[in-house]
Amino acid sequence: MEIIVAKTAGFCFGVERAVNMVYDQLKAAGGPVYTYGPVIHNETVTGEIRAMGGTELPEDLTRLPERGTVVIRSHGAGPDVYEALRRKGLTVSDATCPFVLKIHKIVREASEAGRTVLIAGNADHPEVKATLAWCTGPAYVIGNAEEAASVLQKAGKAAVLVAQTTFSMKKFQDIVEIIPKSGYDINVVNTICNATRERQAEARSLARTADVMIVIGGRHSSNTQKLAEICRSACPRTCFIQTFQDLNADDVKGAKRIGITAGASTPKKIIQEVRRKCQSYRSLNSF
Ligand code: SF4
Repeated sequence: MEIIVAKTAGFCFGVERAVNMVYDQLKAAGGPVYTYGPVIHNETVTGEIRAMGGTELPEDLTRLPERGTVVIRSHGAGPDVYEALRRKGLTVSDATCPFVLKIHKIVREASEAGRTVLIAGNADHPEVKATLAWCTGPAYVIGNAEEAASVLQKAGKAAVLVAQTTFSMKKFQDIVEIIPKSGYDINVVNTICNATRERQAEARSLARTADVMIVIGGRHSSNTQKLAEICRSACPRTCFIQTFQDLNADDVKGAKRIGITAGASTPKKIIQEVRRKCQSYRSLNSF
């Protein structure tokens, strides 16, 4: 049995930076440490942070502590959040990924210039909610090309189109394709992160050659859900798991080549545990 782990599996630069910033604050022991929502969509990591004394603040900021440091996660936050924390006198440690900050700048400037903002993404995702909060004029979230067609009827003639950093490249291209027919002046800025593009491309090509594809990540992680979707379309035996405990011998039974990939919020340790479990199945007679 051959086991291949994708080179791009696991933490991306932005997630690694955000998680390290939380751990650094916790180790510094300079007072209570909070994160604005879960710092990443991975229950193992968020559980570890809680065990070290970190606390998640509710995203609506209804209950703010009297003192301490709040780490803004890699997904970012809107200006209202910074303002609420500042007013309360809390220290802010900003772990917003620089690629996300770039999107905030684009939409803020486009809004100020009178352009409608179109965001290709998932309206419920914290990154998209934060990006929307930086828009000072009309702004719409578009999930697919069909939605884009109806949104364009409401949007102003001048607009800017950006994407959630983990949006599907294929869906973004589908949306971009309908723009020339719309007769609108739309400035398209592809803000899908390179880490996402590379991870999706590698997962697709690995899944094409694998008998079984294992995708590791949090159930609520949008980029992991997309990875699983991509892998499933190329490899019907795709398993979406959170930890090695979710993997059973039957999942990999008879497989000659197993591919493993993982979302941007999956720690290396969990990927290694899954790999080891696959190796342990090698010795079973069923192979
Ligand atoms: S996927 Fe890209 S944009 Fe998102 S946190 Fe990671 S590096 Fe930053």
